Amino acid sequence: MPPLWQAGVVSSDAPPGATSPTPFDRARALRRMTDETFDVLVIGGGITGAGVALDAAARGLRTALVERHDFASGTSSASSKLVHGGIRYLQQGDVRLVYEALHERQRLLRNAPHLVQLLPFLIPLFGRDGVVGAGVARAYATALWLYDLTGGWRIGRWHRRVDREEVLAHFPTLRTDRLVAGFVYFDAQADDARLTLAVLRTAALDFGAAVANYAEVVSLRRDGDGMTTGATVRRCAPGESGEIQIRARVVVNATGVWSDDVRALDEGTHLRTTRPAKGVHVTVPASRLPADIAAVVPVAGDRRSIFIVPWPDGDDVYVGTTDTAWDGSLDEPACTPDDVAYLLGAINAVATVPLSSADVTGVWAGLRPLLAPPPSLSATQPATPASPPPPGGTRRPLASLARWRRQPGLSSEPGDRTADLSRRHRVLVSPSGVVTVTGGKLTTYRLMAEETVDVAVRRLGTLAPPGATHCPTRHLALHGAPPASARGKLAAPRKPTGTGPEPADAACTPDVHLDDTVRQALWARHGTETDAVLAPAIGHPELLQPIVPGLPYLRAEVLWAARHEMAVTVDDVLSRRTRATLRDSRAAAAAAGEVADLLAPIIGRPGGSLADDARAYAATVDEQLARAGLAPRAGVPEPSAIGTPEPDATGTPETTTPETTTPETGTFETGTPGTDATGVPETQQ
Ligand SMILES: Cc1cc2nc3c(=O)[nH]c(=O)nc-3n(C[C@H](O)[C@H](O)[C@H](O)COP(=O)(O)OP(=O)(O)OC[C@H]3O[C@@H](n4cnc5c(N)ncnc54)[C@H](O)[C@@H]3O)c2cc1C
Repeated sequence: MPPLWQAGVVSSDAPPGATSPTPFDRARALRRMTDETFDVLVIGGGITGAGVALDAAARGLRTALVERHDFASGTSSASSKLVHGGIRYLQQGDVRLVYEALHERQRLLRNAPHLVQLLPFLIPLFGRDGVVGAGVARAYATALWLYDLTGGWRIGRWHRRVDREEVLAHFPTLRTDRLVAGFVYFDAQADDARLTLAVLRTAALDFGAAVANYAEVVSLRRDGDGMTTGATVRRCAPGESGEIQIRARVVVNATGVWSDDVRALDEGTHLRTTRPAKGVHVTVPASRLPADIAAVVPVAGDRRSIFIVPWPDGDDVYVGTTDTAWDGSLDEPACTPDDVAYLLGAINAVATVPLSSADVTGVWAGLRPLLAPPPSLSATQPATPASPPPPGGTRRPLASLARWRRQPGLSSEPGDRTADLSRRHRVLVSPSGVVTVTGGKLTTYRLMAEETVDVAVRRLGTLAPPGATHCPTRHLALHGAPPASARGKLAAPRKPTGTGPEPADAACTPDVHLDDTVRQALWARHGTETDAVLAPAIGHPELLQPIVPGLPYLRAEVLWAARHEMAVTVDDVLSRRTRATLRDSRAAAAAAGEVADLLAPIIGRPGGSLADDARAYAATVDEQLARAGLAPRAGVPEPSAIGTPEPDATGTPETTTPETTTPETGTFETGTPGTDATGVPETQQ
């Protein structure tokens, strides 16, 4: 049998190191970037930059995008993966943000139904003697009605109150002593990194954008009048060196929490216009925390809440919380032992099966690029095109909302917490013409992109192609989306309230025999490209084996990632093309060598080897586990110290101690769930 890499589309005489001649090809993109002059150069390959590149390319602008690491390697792979309005932003009075986000949620469900799926959310209600505090019940009911009326209804379902039995059917290990009833409402979920990739591939494959990862902007080019005319870009894939010059009429800075760094390249001074806020998540097996829909659980004695979300295609769930201020390194937002203890403590306060750090299989931390209040940007000309105002106006709470916000214990007062900072975005133009877009949410990326490209088109003036003022992305299907006629079924809810297409619809590659669940999961990642992903497995059934035991990612997807998704490193494959690192990092590290073997014949690596890459990946996982205070991989010695306390020997006490603290929240009780009418905590991210 030939080696695996020879299966399918790579011919057996392909020289090692040959790159596949696909249009989503890094070497070709870099050549184009050297040769052509672009209308728009986007810096940053997170969801914001990806959205801008697609919007610009779809309007007919010659577009390039560079990302210094891998696509979505910043915040856009570390979010909570919710496509939502955010009920608590209503609580903060930001009706417009929720209205816009819910509108965008609906567009995403329509334009990328394979990637974005309906997600029912449960809010359990606790009380005394079978009765929920009147204030709490009214506050939640008001919030959910407002959410539905602000746009939640677009998803086709209204929230509803459910009885105790239904709550327990969804969340069987919930403590029953104070549980009275619950609410179910509807939002959506998407794999953030794959969504970002799908937007970029749509820009490149369908609209001709030149897109490259591992390409860092190190300086900006200027003309004699001091206007920005492009960028100097360092090629920084492993083993690579050298710079290229990219010529562009408009440069867009979409670098998230790093946007002030790029502004410093432009404006010579480091403004602090973003305020990074760290959020953490842990993954645990569903057998320890069974939940068939997502849930928002109040943290007793704290103004935050945690949420529990099932990974859509497996037997694991992740738990996360709202963010807290962060002033450490932007490149290393680690999940710490305190973070893990906070999340597990909050779960253990409401669940009958106690979780310990030994249950945690994956962790991740990300930095939200919040806008610093107040805007200190006098050197720039703000350019924020207006969107149509929502019903009820902008930031003026409805009367009923105002009443709801005055409920006892509601966090309506502006505070110093990052949770109180706006999730809005801002578009600015510097004196040299660089357009910066910051803030916002995964959910609102398209709207942010539309407003940013509107500004870019105005700057291009007569150089913009005819019709470029029209934004086509509102109704633009992303690459891999099925034709509209096939979509009704795809939006169906998950099991048992469900999410995906019927397996029979998912893909039908002849001669490739796959379990329905695996096929459905593949569809949710690749949509109409599923057959192409599976094609190399015809006659090579070993490519249908999971790359990480217990996770639904196939070896064939590693080949696809290298040939068609610009994966360059083992980490790219295990952390973002698949989400193995987030779900079971120890098992993913054990699979790193095999991933390297699959990649090696496809990816050339001057001056280095994929085996080194696999070792580096495993070392990163080990460091991540150590920093979170989690047990190391089998056979890996405990680190002496990586700047954090040692994990405790049993793995349990930090989750069951009666009190724990975090720097931002102070002390909270872990012993009792949301106790009485003193608090309706923020409801989610
Ligand atoms: C914990 C957490 C949970 C969240 N949950 C949700 C949620 O559930 N729903 C939701 O809607 N939103 C959520 N968000 C918000 C959302 O994730 C972010 O708003 C979004 O991902 C930001 O994307 P971005 O592209 O602006 O930034 P990033 O994804 O960080 O992208 C910026 C990119 O710029 C690159 N870059 C930097 N400097 C350079 C340079 N010099 N040259 C080239 N490239 C460069 C970086 O490498 C990076 O990849 C969450 C955020 C956090 C932190």
